[in-house]
Amino acid sequence: MRVLEAAAELAPAPRTLIVTSRLKPLLGAVATTSTVNEIRRFEMFTDGRSAQIALAQPDLIIERSRLIRALAQEARGAGAALDCSTRFQTVTANERGLRLAVEANGKAEELHTDSVVGADGAASRVARSAGWPPLKTVPLLQAIVRLPKDCAADTVRVWFVPDDTPYFYWLIPESSERAAVGLIAEDGRDAARCLARFLEKKGMEPLEWQGARTPVYRGWVPVRRKVGNGDVYLVGDAAAQVKVSTVGGVVSGFRGARGVAEAILRGRPGGELRGLRRELTAHWLIRRSLHWFQQGEYSRMVDVLDAATRRAFGEVTRDEAARLIWRVIRHHPRLALLGLRGLLLGRSARRPGQRPDAASLSA
Ligand SMILES: Cc1cc2nc3c(=O)[nH]c(=O)nc-3n(C[C@H](O)[C@H](O)[C@H](O)COP(=O)(O)OP(=O)(O)OC[C@H]3O[C@@H](n4cnc5c(N)ncnc54)[C@H](O)[C@@H]3O)c2cc1C
Repeated sequence: MRVLEAAAELAPAPRTLIVTSRLKPLLGAVATTSTVNEIRRFEMFTDGRSAQIALAQPDLIIERSRLIRALAQEARGAGAALDCSTRFQTVTANERGLRLAVEANGKAEELHTDSVVGADGAASRVARSAGWPPLKTVPLLQAIVRLPKDCAADTVRVWFVPDDTPYFYWLIPESSERAAVGLIAEDGRDAARCLARFLEKKGMEPLEWQGARTPVYRGWVPVRRKVGNGDVYLVGDAAAQVKVSTVGGVVSGFRGARGVAEAILRGRPGGELRGLRRELTAHWLIRRSLHWFQQGEYSRMVDVLDAATRRAFGEVTRDEAARLIWRVIRHHPRLALLGLRGLLLGRSARRPGQRPDAASLSA
């Protein structure tokens, strides 16, 4: 197996990521190697109100550059060749399988194979070349700041400010000294402006910036296409395998990778991809409910989070959204009704033109 990487060397830009404990069974020792902190509590703020959720299983804070290096080492140990400075260009059919045109150290080269897996991110060239349509993306921007004195190193803070973003602001401690503060927006300029204002309001100074566009999941992207006699697969951001409720793509991307490995080895898709599709659909439903919330709905949401509901949220990870939705429907009807209201009435509740990209979530 050959891994082609466009970057000149494996020196990925640092990025602080939060993932659920689901990463451990997926990656084993690599999950532990790349963990820099653990999170035991979430605090949610909106309009002067707040609610706390204690996590039964701590979330992991991972450093992306460590994760990539650990994965590369594991891949090499398993016999894979890793070629940096090798940029994929196009895939076409040859007599037996696939012909890949690549640029290796500035020179054009041809590779021949039966199957190729595109794990080349939101703007995947593999996907474009094999005929998948482009994905809608949103900007994620975060600043590394000193951890404020009143913030615990094991607690994530989330602020719902619907005038700035239909998603949320976060503060994710990566240690007892530093934290990532960021937001997801619908427009890159808005993201930078809103985050700068938010940091100023909170008295936090950016030490460094991290940002990129991530795809918005708007429906299942079939992960395989036939090109001649060969197979082209997509995993991760390239296939929009991102939980659109929070725009987190690490755990879901690895589930997609495992699903594609299963499909290649068995010759047909297995349970992992079916489970991932259910999970991404559940997150899409949650996002559709929340995307239209105004301040009033967020305030009511925090108000109805009684002790039992908070416990239910803390016991189910964000990578078990389907389970979470059923729990809320069965045991927390007021919250379910609020979500349903967002889902059914949201569009008309918002002032026309207030969020020009509002149709973007429609499947
Ligand atoms: C600021 C920020 C914060 C985030 N926070 C979180 C978080 O807290 N939790 C979470 O779960 N997710 C988070 N995400 C999303 C998460 O980072 C992505 O979902 C994840 O990195 C996707 O991984 P990927 O391997 O599919 O794609 P990428 O990470 O984009 O990797 C693609 C790789 O392909 C290479 N490549 C691209 N084109 C080519 C080519 N033509 N030829 C060869 N190689 C190529 C690139 O160099 C790169 O190494 C965040 C994203 C951002 C931007």
